[in-house]
Amino acid sequence: MSDRQVDRLTLIAELKALLGSSYVVDDTDAMAPYLTDWRKRFTGSALCVVRPANTEEVSAVMRLACAHGLSLVPQGGNTGLVGGSVPVGNGHEIVLSLGRMNRVRDLDPISDVMVVEAGVTLAAVQEAALKEGRLFPLSLASEGTATIGGAISTNAGGTAVLAYGTMRDLVVGLEVVLADGRIWNGLGKLKKDNTGYDLKNLFIGSEGTLGIVTAAVVKLFPEPRSRATAFCGLASAEDALHFLKLAKAEAGSELTTFELIPRLGVEWVVKHFPDTREPLFFQHQWYVLVEFSSLTVDGADALAQRLILDAIDKAYLEDSVFAVTLAQRDDFWRLREYMPDAQTREGASIKHDISVPVDAIPAFIETVVQDLKALIPDLRPFVFGHLGDGNLHFNVQAPEGADGSAFLKHADDVHEIVYRHIAAFHGSISAEHGIGQVKRERLAQTKDAVALDLMRTIKMALDPDGRLNPGKVL
Ligand code: ZN
Repeated sequence: MSDRQVDRLTLIAELKALLGSSYVVDDTDAMAPYLTDWRKRFTGSALCVVRPANTEEVSAVMRLACAHGLSLVPQGGNTGLVGGSVPVGNGHEIVLSLGRMNRVRDLDPISDVMVVEAGVTLAAVQEAALKEGRLFPLSLASEGTATIGGAISTNAGGTAVLAYGTMRDLVVGLEVVLADGRIWNGLGKLKKDNTGYDLKNLFIGSEGTLGIVTAAVVKLFPEPRSRATAFCGLASAEDALHFLKLAKAEAGSELTTFELIPRLGVEWVVKHFPDTREPLFFQHQWYVLVEFSSLTVDGADALAQRLILDAIDKAYLEDSVFAVTLAQRDDFWRLREYMPDAQTREGASIKHDISVPVDAIPAFIETVVQDLKALIPDLRPFVFGHLGDGNLHFNVQAPEGADGSAFLKHADDVHEIVYRHIAAFHGSISAEHGIGQVKRERLAQTKDAVALDLMRTIKMALDPDGRLNPGKVL
């Protein structure tokens, strides 16, 4: 038996004594789901997987990892898209799954906050809030599996960022286990607290590289009493911007969704999914899925109708249709939500999750597409996303009938063009999904040198031995 095996056996025995043997997973098959990411692009190896029940156990595991010179990979629902929640396989990693920490500790309708443990799913947080007539607004496709801890660690966005902000805007306080095992209890409910540095914001979006989020105080909102959803057809991205400006000015925070969809998006979804159909009689170059919500019973409908009439009048919109029933609303949302799958069925593509200042979006799309077409004349741009947040899924599809693997050989050149323009337009190389393993090198190349230096200084201060989620972000 080698030294390493003896070490592993000792470690596992110690962890089992600490957590109970059923909560230390060391069997190869049982470990597998924790070692591969959602899209099955990254698989690492780990010494074992541990499933602590509470914050004290997380702290004890962290101390044990320190004693053995090991690192921890914190994991929530493992639905991340950049390989941030699986081990890199350096031989020194333990995956720490927070799934058992799934209690709602408190719901306070007067302070309008809720205290939840890291392993509660986003759907469960929404449900618990709804029971008290409150809204927890963060919503994403994977919300049945994605956890609040993961959403905090990646500063998740979703479809209602326009009205409610990203996770950063929704967190009031945090409880975090630090790299040396200490517990920082920052679970205050205070709206106002000007006593120095904002520590919680260091951990939000740090992808588990600075500490392990074990619980959070999150904000709640009134549950809207009415909602209005419309699918609009437009001639250009420029018109979408005019419409957005009008909607923001008139609706303010009652404008909750503004999703830009290209013609190709509707076409491919309708082609591949029999439970969808063309939303409008004629075809349009662009579409916008727009949603309003209001605290009054008929407020949203009245607002949406007035606004859309106004936008048609001003020729920003060519056509539009309202969802009269809930089933119709679902029809509209399916057109948006099936887009990534429809794109996959159309063959090879090169993807980017980026943001630029909202007013620069039409110019950005035009410039980048022009340069990309100079490289590959018949490539098919598939650009969609959260226009209201300046966040685009800037995807590039292989020419019709082209050989996928030959097309993917252009990936580096395509990235180069997109990221060069991102820099010129003062945008970001990752708007939603984070850095993880996927964009680590790209971050080092593109981030402002001073900012990068500050990030490294913070990492050194909080995790000098690199025990937290190694090989991610920096
Ligand atoms: Zn998105």
